[in-house]
Amino acid sequence: MNKGLVVQKYGGSSVANVRRILNVAKRVVEYKKKGYNLVVVVSALGDTTDELISLAEQIHKNPSEREMDMLLSTGEQASSALLAMAIHKLGYDAISFTGAQVGIITDEQFTKAKIVKISADKIREELKRGKIVIVAGFQGVTPNHDITTLGRGGSDLTAVALAKTLNADMCEIYTDVDGVYTADPRIEPKAKKLSSITYDEMLEMASLGAQVMQARSIEVAKKFNVTIHVRSSFNKNEGTIISKEAKRMEEFAISGVTLNKNEAKITVCNVPDRPGVAARIFSKISEGGINVDMIVQNVSHTRQTDISFTVNKSDLTRALKITQSVAKEVGAGEVMEDLDIARVSIVGVGMKTHPGVAARMFSALAQNNINIEMISTSEISISCIIKKRFGEKAVRALHRKFNLG
Ligand code: ADP
Ligand code: ASP
Ligand code: MG
Repeated sequence: MNKGLVVQKYGGSSVANVRRILNVAKRVVEYKKKGYNLVVVVSALGDTTDELISLAEQIHKNPSEREMDMLLSTGEQASSALLAMAIHKLGYDAISFTGAQVGIITDEQFTKAKIVKISADKIREELKRGKIVIVAGFQGVTPNHDITTLGRGGSDLTAVALAKTLNADMCEIYTDVDGVYTADPRIEPKAKKLSSITYDEMLEMASLGAQVMQARSIEVAKKFNVTIHVRSSFNKNEGTIISKEAKRMEEFAISGVTLNKNEAKITVCNVPDRPGVAARIFSKISEGGINVDMIVQNVSHTRQTDISFTVNKSDLTRALKITQSVAKEVGAGEVMEDLDIARVSIVGVGMKTHPGVAARMFSALAQNNINIEMISTSEISISCIIKKRFGEKAVRALHRKFNLG
């Protein structure tokens, strides 16, 4: 009785220690007993990735990205072998592989490599032999045999990409919460689990800070229409289905509130007010492979303007260097950095049809004495940059304002 193929991914907290690894092995075996074929993607144990990053930074302030990937990929290699052993202990056949071994080929952008091709031949062979296949998440290999990683949270991407390549019947993401909530339940205890959410909303929430799913994994899921079930590895509750359409009777104005504290603001002061200057700054930054988020240019009456923009904190040092050199070239003034910021956002397809959402957001922040430094909008989200210390308070205020609890 072959019930089909399931790809399951277990996040770091789900395999944080020996007891939890054994628990995951048990869950996996239960599926096997029911007649499913299984490909299991694992993250590194607990906070291993963060610990490895911290070790690297103690050795070198700006470590080589190639060596970072050599280092970080070991976390997932360890957890996949340990899970295979745990399954063996239960008397079942399992085999673990690295990303390279199963042919996850990426480009050469170390630390945030893009998958260009997956052969998965080895996985198919071992599944045919009846084995449970474990794959180390978050990693791939370049055509040149260098190990790469797929960006933080990248095991989600490994799972979704394998589900697509193997044409799996289910893609389950197991984590430490019951699913996708209206806000991070660690910040807003009144947050509610969503039974379903669209790719577009999930992508927006993930990009804006809801780390429960890696944004890139949702992009791939959307592109290939892979349905994802996000659920807890600690219980058997139904989680959240991420798919093309969410099953909801009526659209609410918004579906969720997110917080992102991983951005930093750069301000270029006294930029000459003439055509082409912004183009010059931002093309240099993009040539450096750095994503820019919000951009604000202040109106000038002195023929000079200030341009502020946000980048990921991990890109700050490089972005600053590039900006300083362009600023000099174009005759602009000082370049300042600000790490004391947070981005709070509301997300929902319903805002297209509900008027006054922005006004409600700004008034909720105002009522809580939270000053807005920058604003940006998309079709289904509105974000405000505020002082970092008000981040959590802002999330709760917006959650209340939009009656999400
Ligand atoms: P894993 O190690 O399983 O990949 P992550 O830590 O990456 O888990 O993601 C799960 C965490 O995401 C949760 O513990 C929760 O605090 C956080 N989170 C942030 N926003 C949300 C949200 N909207 N819904 C659910 N969890 C969220
Ligand atoms: N271990 C990696 C990280 O912490 C990948 C993952 O967990 O998905 O980012
Ligand atoms: Mg994760």
